[in-house]
Amino acid sequence: MYKAKAYSVASATSPFASDTIQRRETTDRDVQIEILYCGICHSDLHTVRDEWHSIMPTVYPCVPGHEIVGKVTKVGAAVSKFKPGDLVGVGCLVDSDHSCPSCLNNLEQFCKEPTFTYNSPDKHGTGPVTYGGYSESIVVDERFVLRVPANLDLAGVAPLLCAGITTYSPMRRWGDIKGKKVGVVGLGGLGHMGVKFARAFGAHVVVFTTSPKKKEDALRLGAHEVIVSTDRQQMKQHAGTFNFILDTIAAEHDINAYITMLGLEGNITLVGAPDKPLPVSAFALLFGRRTLSGSLIGGIKETQEMLDFCGEHNITSDVEVIPIQQINEAYERLVKSDVKYRFSIDMASLKAE
Ligand code: NAP
Ligand code: ZN
Repeated sequence: MYKAKAYSVASATSPFASDTIQRRETTDRDVQIEILYCGICHSDLHTVRDEWHSIMPTVYPCVPGHEIVGKVTKVGAAVSKFKPGDLVGVGCLVDSDHSCPSCLNNLEQFCKEPTFTYNSPDKHGTGPVTYGGYSESIVVDERFVLRVPANLDLAGVAPLLCAGITTYSPMRRWGDIKGKKVGVVGLGGLGHMGVKFARAFGAHVVVFTTSPKKKEDALRLGAHEVIVSTDRQQMKQHAGTFNFILDTIAAEHDINAYITMLGLEGNITLVGAPDKPLPVSAFALLFGRRTLSGSLIGGIKETQEMLDFCGEHNITSDVEVIPIQQINEAYERLVKSDVKYRFSIDMASLKAE
């Protein structure tokens, strides 16, 4: 084992502080990665503040971060895909059981015993739970390490590892959205990636936002139209017209207002994960035979496919790069939906401490 610098929280109400964690030495299949950038996902905030207590209680100290890009520094004897110096990514998963039907079907995120990048029981016993990317390095089984296209800006690649795959996967799964009317609800980290992918897939893209000041950015990011969701008149005009809607809202909200935006057999997929249940009106679903679904990140194979797609189409996240010392302030801004459109932590700032 070796020591690595990290930022952790000691409780649901503590601020982040500088810390030291243990990382394992590379075993045969492991890749050791020097972390260059790590995105800040709203899931990090839900976890840090123990907002998902009833489903996944947080074990403290907690080191979040699952939007990791870095450089390989060391590989185990049996590693075949990577060598020192390679640019790589790590997302929300660092291991699974490799044998259940989901794993065999490239859907490791639905494995019964997945190991998430942080706050998951640590099979290697390095700590009580896994520690994520707000750290100078990480050691990961090569089967959960992704290749990063060489042409992309690394600070903007980091968020692809969660926000990217979480929005790419449900749109791909829905079918060919070319020429369809697609809504993206919430212009945050996930939402802005949803807009970029929907546009790249050829859809007619409409953003629903509660923030009128984001309108111009939404159009610049690729939206054809923007609806301010608090404006009843604007909502009414579009009722019953959408084929597919991706809902990325992180907080409680009236989902029926968006279900009724769908046309016949339209689908709304939830990727946002508010801690409280969302009441659903049966009638909103019955009329129009509409469907409501959920989606969770994506498997490793699909995550690589998404990264390669981003390389080909020059897609990255719009980021505000921050030093890790500004993390507490960044969290306060994230709660207020005041980020353009993802924070990406420059880990050189941690090394310099
Ligand atoms: P984010 O950057 O904070 O974006 C969420 C956006 O939702 C905000 O920018 C805001 O957009 C809108 N919003 C926030 N509060 C709202 C409210 N009370 N009512 C209406 N709209 C509101 O968060 P994120 O990182 O994109 O994550 C979004 C959610 O997805 C989180 O719950 C996160 O945990 C979850 N998530 C799920 C998965 C998965 O696999 N399913 C993966 C990653 C994250 P406007 O300002 O445009 O209204
Ligand atoms: Zn995430």
